[in-house]
Amino acid sequence: MVFYEFEGGLYLNITNRCPTACSFCVKTRWDWSFRGRDLLLPHEPSRREILDGLEARLGPTTSYRELVFCGYGEPTQRLDVLLAAARHARHLRPDISVRLNTVGLGRLICGRDIVPDLRGAVDRVSVSVNTADPAQWLTLHRPRPEYRAAGFAAACAFAADCAAAGLRTRVTAVDRPDVDLPAVEALARSLGAEFFLRPQLEDLGASTQARPVRRRGRNVA
Ligand code: SF4
Repeated sequence: MVFYEFEGGLYLNITNRCPTACSFCVKTRWDWSFRGRDLLLPHEPSRREILDGLEARLGPTTSYRELVFCGYGEPTQRLDVLLAAARHARHLRPDISVRLNTVGLGRLICGRDIVPDLRGAVDRVSVSVNTADPAQWLTLHRPRPEYRAAGFAAACAFAADCAAAGLRTRVTAVDRPDVDLPAVEALARSLGAEFFLRPQLEDLGASTQARPVRRRGRNVA
C-alpha cells in the first residue's frame, strides 16, 4: 500500500528502504502491517504512479488537511520522488500542509544538502532523534555502518537547519524509560525545533491487524 489515510491525513509510503534498523520500529514485529494497512511494497512505486495517485486522491472535494511522507521506510531514500510528489500535491491542493517524517539522515543518504530542496516543497519536518546521547543514538537506531560515525550529529544539524530555513520542525522521541526525555526536549529547543513525545506503538495496541504468517526476505532496514 503506497497511499493510506491516518488521522485525517493522506500518508505516502514511497519506499521500504532505511539507513537504520531502529530498535523501536514495529515494521517487522507487525509483519509490515500498520493498523490493517499492508505497507510492504512489492516494488517501489514509480514517480508516475505516485503523481497519478495524488491526482486521484487530492481533488477539490477531498478533506485531507495534510500530506505526510511516512511509511515503513525512510522517504529521503527517494528524495527526487518525494520532492516531485510534494510539489504536485501543492499544485493540486495549495491549502494542504505537507510533512516529512524522517530519521534525519537525508544529507548523508543523498551526499549533499537537501534542506534547500525541502524548503518550498514541504511545510513541516519531523525528525526522529529519540535521544540526546550520541552513544544511545547508535543503540536505538542501529544505523548502517556508513552512518554510524556521523549519523547523530547529522540528524541534529539537519533539524537545526530545517528550522533555520523556516520549516516548522520538530524533534521527536519515543517515550521510553531508558531515555532522558528532558534532555531530548532541551536538545530540540537548542536546535530551534519543537519537541514531540511519541508513545511506543506497542503501547497503543495498534498492531491488532498484523497477520499471523510472517513473510521473509524484505527486511531492508
Ligand atoms: S527509519 Fe527506523 S522507524 Fe522508520 S521504518 Fe526505518 S527502521 Fe523503522
